[in-house]
Amino acid sequence: MIESFLILGQLAEAHTHQHKVAIADINWAHPLWDAYAILIGACFGSFLNVCIYRIPMELSLSKPGSHCFSCKAPIRWFHNIPIFSYLALGGKCASCKAKYSSRYMLIELLTAFLFWAVWHFYGYSWHTPVYWLVVAALIAGTFIDIDHLILPDRITWGGIIAGLIISPFYPGLHQMETWKEGLIASVAGAGLGFGLLWTVSILGTLAFKKDAMGFGDVKLIGAIGAFLGWRAVIFTIVASSFIGTFGGIITMIIQRKGKWGVQIPYGPYLAAAAVLWIFYGQAIWTWYFGLLLR
Ligand SMILES: [Zn+2]
Repeated sequence: MIESFLILGQLAEAHTHQHKVAIADINWAHPLWDAYAILIGACFGSFLNVCIYRIPMELSLSKPGSHCFSCKAPIRWFHNIPIFSYLALGGKCASCKAKYSSRYMLIELLTAFLFWAVWHFYGYSWHTPVYWLVVAALIAGTFIDIDHLILPDRITWGGIIAGLIISPFYPGLHQMETWKEGLIASVAGAGLGFGLLWTVSILGTLAFKKDAMGFGDVKLIGAIGAFLGWRAVIFTIVASSFIGTFGGIITMIIQRKGKWGVQIPYGPYLAAAAVLWIFYGQAIWTWYFGLLLR
């Protein structure tokens, strides 16, 4: 801990003495940075809880401030600290003692963990904030889809547009050099994802005489492609179908309702597969095609 303050001290000193802070001198492997990533993730998770609740109802994300769903009392800032407040208050409202779902804390923990994982894998690079954004949007989309069986346009179209804008600024996201290559990679990813799942959805509707796949899923894979590229699109579609089959069986066992055809959200499986791609996709891709070409 003392060591971590020393790093900050060095940074501050270098700054006050108008030294150029040599980025190369900073020890990015220091656990302090892991702690920051977890902290940022927990705070983002807290914000995502607000998004998950308010976006489907088309409510403002900032006004009014956080308040109890039961007694409407505003939640004071010291009762709104991610994870800790939930534990300190035993998951209850500080004024009326209404019980809050433990899902709030689980989403904060999940976001904190995934933000840490992104930092752990990508460290000091532009990949990290971009993937934090992607992971956050996927978490929000997942839980909104579970709750309401919809994927809001703010996340899907918003994701496609954000991916198309960010990619030319940071072509490295697609292992590209120039802004044009970055933009092309993003357009290709979004187009392939959108096109593939749209085809699946049309064919599914023809085959089953009802909507087999929501248009929200089509837009979501477009957004995934815009950020992560065409390989990620193929990986995500294949991996999500495996995860979805597995998840569907688990859900049926838990709910003890052994019937197919109940509408289950597909967004969470696409999101899980896309997160898997962020961490292990390239390795799995290389391994798989290595097997084929042997
Ligand atoms: Zn209350």
